[in-house]
Amino acid sequence: MIEFHDVNKSFAGHKAVSDLNLHFEEGAFSVLIGTSGSGKSTTLKMINRLVEHDSGQIRFAGVEIRSLPVLELRRRMGYAIQSIGLFPHWTVAQNIATVPDLQKWSRQKVADRVDELMALLGLDPVLRARYPHQLSGGQQQRVGVARALAANPEVLLMDEPFGALDPVTRGALQTEMTRIHRILGRTIILVTHDIDEALRLADRLVLMDKGEVVQQGTPLELLTRPATDFVREFFGRSELGVRLLSLRTVENYMRREPQAGGEALQAGMSLRDALSAFVARQCEILPVVDDNGVPCGTLHFRDLLAGEVKREGHA
Ligand code: ADP
Ligand code: MG
Repeated sequence: MIEFHDVNKSFAGHKAVSDLNLHFEEGAFSVLIGTSGSGKSTTLKMINRLVEHDSGQIRFAGVEIRSLPVLELRRRMGYAIQSIGLFPHWTVAQNIATVPDLQKWSRQKVADRVDELMALLGLDPVLRARYPHQLSGGQQQRVGVARALAANPEVLLMDEPFGALDPVTRGALQTEMTRIHRILGRTIILVTHDIDEALRLADRLVLMDKGEVVQQGTPLELLTRPATDFVREFFGRSELGVRLLSLRTVENYMRREPQAGGEALQAGMSLRDALSAFVARQCEILPVVDDNGVPCGTLHFRDLLAGEVKREGHA
């Protein structure tokens, strides 16, 4: 869907990114990760031409982006950032409708779209007429994401979108994003410096350092087959076990047996979250339900400690 071929960008003689070769697949949730100043935001902004590349090629659905009118390109790509940039004197509904209004959608179509997106992002309809300063940080961020999605963009670009939020709100929004990605199947490219966020969200990870791509692949590949010492250090040797837990799901460890009592875990939940649930509830066995809330088995605390992934009976 989006390809970089030998892309370079300098600011006043200083190289921000060098020789980028990247491939962002259609429908995938890709995450650009790296320390501050490694060139992540520059890479993202080159995709919608907020920053123009100096050399090399960037292709969007096969077409070099320089040959597309900027407005058309941006219409096809939603963009959400940390500082949100909601218009302070516009209501939630008006903010979400920014792009559809520019495109002169009919009033009814815009109103329906706002309702649909508010439901998708878990925003209570009473918030429709509120102004940004009357919302919590998490709600503002949800409105920012809804606005970016409003005109059905083919690609959603997100730059540290949850950076300013407290850990609980942030976790909730990460879960929402995974769900939204599953429902919409849209191509998403997200920038973060937060390793746990990256592992939680990414189908594909691109690790950057000093303006270069150090390694790209699935989270599991980067964790278990780091290309360099830098990659290994970056993901932290000591926390590797915990991080691997966040990549495996309850379903991988679940026993297909009759239900235990207690509040159920979701089959798609990460083992790391499941572990927290065991600790919080102080029990040994918890029931598991599938995506539709139908009971499908149980998870035993000691199976998590055993470490071996059980794949029998697993589709
Ligand atoms: P990251 O998002 O990974 O923190 P950036 O892409 O923002 O990194 O920045 C990469 C490098 O480019 C940094 O050295 C930064 O100072 C420089 N840079 C980014 N944007 C500009 C700009 N508009 N003008 C000058 N230098 C910039
Ligand atoms: Mg940045």
